[in-house]
Amino acid sequence: MPPQSLPMSNILPAIGLASGMAFSNAAMGQDAQTLRTYDVVAPPSCTNNKGETVRFIDSSRGSPGMAAGVADRDDSGKPVVFRSNYTATPPEFQSFIDRHECAHHQTGDVDRPHPPRNGPDHLMNESISDCIAILRLRDEEGYDQAGFDRVAVAMRNEMAKIGFPEISISSRISNIDNCFSSYGPPQDFVNGILKQRGLLQP
Ligand SMILES: [Zn+2]
Repeated sequence: MPPQSLPMSNILPAIGLASGMAFSNAAMGQDAQTLRTYDVVAPPSCTNNKGETVRFIDSSRGSPGMAAGVADRDDSGKPVVFRSNYTATPPEFQSFIDRHECAHHQTGDVDRPHPPRNGPDHLMNESISDCIAILRLRDEEGYDQAGFDRVAVAMRNEMAKIGFPEISISSRISNIDNCFSSYGPPQDFVNGILKQRGLLQP
């Protein structure tokens, strides 16, 4: 399926977007989730579109209590994923973030010009990475509907903590639900994206 047909209204939980009011409301209702901590899962294997191995690095940067990931290259140009505050979110969502960030490496996003933040091209890239992440959890980790539901619940909690509106939360969950139930293997999807971008290795 071409990425044009993915919903465009998905927004990744990201640091720095919290509205004060929404955050306090969420925090008041979610003390249990906000304060609980979890063990950090082992990262998945990850190779970018050029065949380079991607390293995962635990970091405490970012907002305390907000689990997040960043896909980038380090100072020496090696591809990395920084994992911030993973203890703040359940293992299924840690695993989802890892694969979402890996997907930015798999699809070549990391080496392409960054589209304007929260513009349509950026949101499309986020939808694509979300889709690849949930397909990997399904096909490589054996997530069934119960596993999917745990990812969706944690995604909802994390986005609510940051103050995202319901429409952003439900459309993001609807995208991964559609991928999970209708799409083929993750590598086929990745290859489709790479082909469209002229990045598919012969
Ligand atoms: Zn992303």
